[in-house]
Amino acid sequence: MNLHDSERVSGLLDSCGCLEVETPEEADIVIFMTCCVRENADTRLYGQASAVVSMPPSPSGKRVLAVGGCIAQRDGERVRENIPGVNVVFGTSALASVPALLEEAFASSSRKVLFDVDEGDRPFATELPSHRAQSFHAWVPIMTGCNNFCTYCVVPYVRGRERSRVLERVVAECGQLVDDGVREICLLGQNVNSYGCDLYGKPRFAELLRAVGETGVERIRFTSSNPHDLVDETIAAMAETPAVMPHLHLAVQSGSTKVLRAMNRKYTREQYLDLARRIKDGVPGIALSTDIIVGFPGETEEDFLDTLSLVREVGFSSAYTFIYSKRAGTPAAKIVDPTPHVVIQNRFDRLAALVAELAHDANQADLDGISEILVEGPSKRDPMVLVGHSRKNQTVHFRAPEHLDPQTLVGTICDIHVREARTWYLAGELVGTPR
Ligand code: SF4
Repeated sequence: MNLHDSERVSGLLDSCGCLEVETPEEADIVIFMTCCVRENADTRLYGQASAVVSMPPSPSGKRVLAVGGCIAQRDGERVRENIPGVNVVFGTSALASVPALLEEAFASSSRKVLFDVDEGDRPFATELPSHRAQSFHAWVPIMTGCNNFCTYCVVPYVRGRERSRVLERVVAECGQLVDDGVREICLLGQNVNSYGCDLYGKPRFAELLRAVGETGVERIRFTSSNPHDLVDETIAAMAETPAVMPHLHLAVQSGSTKVLRAMNRKYTREQYLDLARRIKDGVPGIALSTDIIVGFPGETEEDFLDTLSLVREVGFSSAYTFIYSKRAGTPAAKIVDPTPHVVIQNRFDRLAALVAELAHDANQADLDGISEILVEGPSKRDPMVLVGHSRKNQTVHFRAPEHLDPQTLVGTICDIHVREARTWYLAGELVGTPR
């Protein structure tokens, strides 16, 4: 969501005639779009923003420094105390105000700091221009905010309560994107499964998936999906909408019912396992990935073993694993946990080893098969090697044939004969004609 908010701010700056430069030293406007889900993002913001303040003036003689997003929303006035020299502070629902705030900051000769930080519950302004990094891929926000209040999470405090966009508007935007050449759309929300509840009194995510499928887009993905709110209609819509990719990121966070309860996740270990089974039965061949927090306050070795066994039982294709990060203001931050860090680190390492083993095993199933990928660009190491993602969201590498300029393949859908299946990627060769 943060990445997409940045695309919207960037699109607004484009529409005001701003040009992108390579370095902050050259820039008249520097904006930090912040995230506060994890602690080290805070530390980095305050360090990097202070470095911008102490830079020599930009070539035009004046530089405006703005801080937006979740940290701005959470810290408000404190941003000014932590970054003397900041000019503009705007919250998560104030994106549309950014051009006016910047203009005022430029015109002002005083050191006044301009704020636009409210309760974070304004209807979110998504009919804003977007500066997309890739012409063939687009994020489309469908809702923002969250009503779930997991005890470790700061999101409901900085993004406010759930607010959905009108279904017809989301579908119209997707249709326009398809007309513009977009091939893959990722529907975005803090909890997409609750889409529509605030507007229509019932979830309409399944209906939305089917309607977006009708626009002719070739690939649909979505994030984030809370298991508690995922209903059978959504599983059916995934199975019956050909453009929906056979991959689902379904954050479990822990395999222990006791810890899940302490996290306020509103499902048990058994309910999650049952849901995973229903998804696998409903969408054959689907890849499931997840998020897991290790070392939540009060987690015992027994609880952790429950997590390991759940991970093995579901057979996740990949997982984002995190050591619990205390977020001030959340209920979990008040729980004192004497577990030494070394114990938590050891659990984390054991989990990471299991996740790698399962990812490796999952990738073996595709060895010697054909993987359809959307080509995203050259690899960092070799411009002749292209990278894309499979339908199941695996990273896939292949070498561009000698007679083709690799750039002409970016944004195409290619079939790759998989010759190598490693833990974190597949590699192979192009077969047939890119389309
Ligand atoms: S559902 Fe996700 S965004 Fe909402 S409170 Fe829980 S972890 Fe945070």
